[in-house]
Amino acid sequence: MRAVRFHDRNDVRVDDVPPPGQLKPRDVLVRPIFCGICGSDLHEYLHGPISSTREPHVFTGASMPQILGHEFSAVVEDIGADVRNVAVGDRVSIQPQMAPADEYYGKRGLYQLSPKVGVVGLSWWWGGMADLAIVNDYNAFVVPAGVTDIQAAMVEPAAVAVHAVDRAGIRPGWSVLISGFGPIGALCALAAKAAGATTLIISETNPSRLKAAGSLLPDAILVNPAKDNLNKIVRANSEEGIGVHAAIECAGVPACLNACVDAVRRQGIVVQVGLQTKPVEINALTWVFKDIIVRGSICYPSDSWPRVMAMIASGQFPVEKLVTSIIALEDAMALGFKRLLDPAGGELKVLLNVSADA
Ligand SMILES: [Zn+2]
Repeated sequence: MRAVRFHDRNDVRVDDVPPPGQLKPRDVLVRPIFCGICGSDLHEYLHGPISSTREPHVFTGASMPQILGHEFSAVVEDIGADVRNVAVGDRVSIQPQMAPADEYYGKRGLYQLSPKVGVVGLSWWWGGMADLAIVNDYNAFVVPAGVTDIQAAMVEPAAVAVHAVDRAGIRPGWSVLISGFGPIGALCALAAKAAGATTLIISETNPSRLKAAGSLLPDAILVNPAKDNLNKIVRANSEEGIGVHAAIECAGVPACLNACVDAVRRQGIVVQVGLQTKPVEINALTWVFKDIIVRGSICYPSDSWPRVMAMIASGQFPVEKLVTSIIALEDAMALGFKRLLDPAGGELKVLLNVSADA
C-alpha cells in the first residue's frame, strides 16, 4: 500500500509498504479518506526528528521511517474482537493521541499530558497519509451525519483551538486578540466567535494570510503589526481603551507574546498555544502590575471529539473554510509540504485526498 513516510530531516517519501496484518482485540483497521498536513509535520521535515524517534518510542515501540498523518477522516474496514464503540463501515474521525492506560494521566484520558504520549502519524506504527492504518478503539470517533469527510479531517486542529479558547475562558461579549493567522490562529478565531466573542482583532504579518482572515471573518479587525500600531488599535477597539479581555498567541514569536501581554486589560488572560521554540524575554513586573493570567495550552483532552463535531454540525464552526487545496497523496511533497513552507504562500490548510485513487 501507499504511505507518506518521514525518513529523516528533509527526507519525506511516498513509499510502497506492507499493509497491516492481524488485528489485536482492541485494534481498529481504518481506510483514511482525507488527511491534513499539519505544522508539526512540517517541523519534523525541517527540524526533526522531534516527536518521531529513531529508537523505539517509549510507549508505542514505533520508530522511523514514520508514516505521517494525524489529522484524518476514515472508514472502518475491520475491528478487533473486543471493539464495541465502532462498527465496520462507520465513518470516523481520529483522535490521534494515546498513553499508558495504567498511569496517572492515561487513566484520566489526559493523553496530551502524559510524558509517554504517542501520536498516530508521529510516533505510532501507522498514520493517516496511507491507504490503511491501525488505531486503538479509543482513537476512533463516529462522525455524525451533519459532518462531512472534509470537516471530519479538520477536527484534530479544531480541537486544539477549542481547548485554547477554553483556556482563555472566553465568554459571550468578550473582546479577543488572535495573534498569528496560520491554521491554528484561524481556528482559534472561529472558535472564539462560536464561544461568543463579539470583538475579534487579528494580528498577522503575512499579507496573504491577513487577506484570508478578512474573507473568513469579515467582521474582524485586521492588523499588520509590521505596519500598524497594534496596541493603539487594541485600545481604540476596547471599552474605555483598557484593552481586550483575552489574547491567544498562535504565532510562536517572542515579540507576539509580549504584544499579547500589552493588549489585554488588567486581570486579562493570555494563552500561549503557538510553539515558542526558544526562551522568551518577558517583563514579569508587567504581569504582576496588570494582575494577569498567562497560560499554556497543549493539544486537547481526548473527549473533545463529540463536542467539536457538534459545533461543526451546528454550522457555528465552519472549519472547512480553512481548506485552501485538496491534492493527491502522491503530490504530498510537491503540492503540499513545499507550498506550505513557502513563507509568502497563500496556503492555509492542505488536505490529501487519500481515498481518491486508492
Ligand atoms: Zn496537527
